[in-house]
Amino acid sequence: MINALTVDMEDWYHICGATDYADPSRWSLYEDRITKNTDKILGLLRRYNVKATFFVLGYIAFKEPDLIRCVEKEGHEIATHGFCHRRIFEMDEEEFEEDVGHSVSVISSITGKRVLGFRAPEWSIRKETFWALDILRKLGILYDSSMVPLTRMGSREFPVYPIKLDTLHGKLWEFPLSTVRCFWERLPFSGGLPLRLSPYFYVISSIMQLNRKGHPAIVYIHPWEFDTEKPAINLSMCRRSMHYLNIEATPHKVEGLLRHFRFAPVREVLGLVP
Ligand SMILES: [Zn+2]
Repeated sequence: MINALTVDMEDWYHICGATDYADPSRWSLYEDRITKNTDKILGLLRRYNVKATFFVLGYIAFKEPDLIRCVEKEGHEIATHGFCHRRIFEMDEEEFEEDVGHSVSVISSITGKRVLGFRAPEWSIRKETFWALDILRKLGILYDSSMVPLTRMGSREFPVYPIKLDTLHGKLWEFPLSTVRCFWERLPFSGGLPLRLSPYFYVISSIMQLNRKGHPAIVYIHPWEFDTEKPAINLSMCRRSMHYLNIEATPHKVEGLLRHFRFAPVREVLGLVP
């Protein structure tokens, strides 16, 4: 079984809900740490000869086209994470189409390739924003990876394994966040804070559990999780945990997973390219 490895490629100040850092016109004032942190991830992937999907923020692609070319040249898939890192439920349909469309055109003009995949900032698709799927397909996107099948973030009715959905403009794959059943709820384990806090054996056994059932897992990381020296931002307790707690655990755990399992970009796991 081949699992999907993904990187949400954004810088340390791209934090949903942090109003002081939400204005894109001020982003150029902040220290650029994306290049050196992305280099750390590229080095790790090179050591294990693993290719991944990079969900690149359009703003980063616009600012650092050479970095995107470098990631692409190493054989990784370049997909989109939107342009301004806004959650779907904070936008109307027109704004969403403009945001994702802008990121798709910037990224494809750099790579010369079609952008096949999208992940929403903070996995922010909700039942009431399902119109986003029609817009994604209209923009030529073939898969989305933004659904969380949990009560508090997405919906327990969301799919728990990759599935093809119907939209107004054709079929669209959904590759939801990997979770495993725990009593009446499901638990995430494969990226961000859940990966950093879960015991390593638990992460391994959860991936094996999915794979035994015939389903790939999706692991996700961020460049800022490879940066213990990033500037401290004044955040609520919950957001501070998401962005700072135990981040030194990510590189070790990811390296262990690269040793234990086989990974590929999402486009290959879903069979969208040979
Ligand atoms: Zn993000």
